[in-house]
Amino acid sequence: MSKRVFILCLYILQISSFDAVQLHVDKRAAIYVKKLVDKFKENPVSRSFDNIILPPRIGESVEDFLLPKIFMWCPIYHYGVEVMCPEHGYALRAGSFNEEVEKKSPRNPRIAYDIGQNVLIIQRHYICCHKGMSHRYLSASGAIMESIPHLYGIDCFPLVMFHRSACTGDAIILLLSSSKIFL
Ligand SMILES: [Zn+2]
Repeated sequence: MSKRVFILCLYILQISSFDAVQLHVDKRAAIYVKKLVDKFKENPVSRSFDNIILPPRIGESVEDFLLPKIFMWCPIYHYGVEVMCPEHGYALRAGSFNEEVEKKSPRNPRIAYDIGQNVLIIQRHYICCHKGMSHRYLSASGAIMESIPHLYGIDCFPLVMFHRSACTGDAIILLLSSSKIFL
C-alpha cells in the first residue's frame, strides 16, 4: 500500500469514528429537507435530482445560504430501473425515506463529507416481500449499489460510500492531492 493510500485510509477511519447521526440541523433545514422529499414524490424523474442539490442562491433570507447540501438517491423512481433483492432476486419496492433530521433516529440521513459543507444523503428503504417475509435495504447500501452497476458506473452516483461514512468525489481528490504535496 502506498503512503498516500495509507494516509487516505487513516483519514477515512478518523472521520468514520464520528457519529453520523449528529446532524445539528435547525427547524429551517428540516422544513427544507421535507420540501425536497415532497418535490421528489411529485416528480421523481426531475433532472434536479441527478446530482447533489446545493443550497438555494436566491432565497427568502440570507439564512438560506446555510441550508445543507442534499443528495436524494432512489434509482427505482428517479431512473425507472427495477432493482432486485440481492438475496432472493425478487423485485424490490421503494418505501419510506430516511429524512428525519431533527432528532436521533434510524431514519436519519447519512452524511457525506465534502469540501466546505457536508452533504446529507436522503436514501429510501427498498423492501423485499419474498414469500411474505419482508426485509429491507437502504437504497445506497453496498448490496443495492452492486445490484445496479450500470448506474454506478456512469457517474449517476457522485459519492464514495464507506462502512460508516461517505465522501464526495471532490473530497477524495482533495485528500489525494493534499497527501501528494506532503509526501
Ligand atoms: Zn429478499
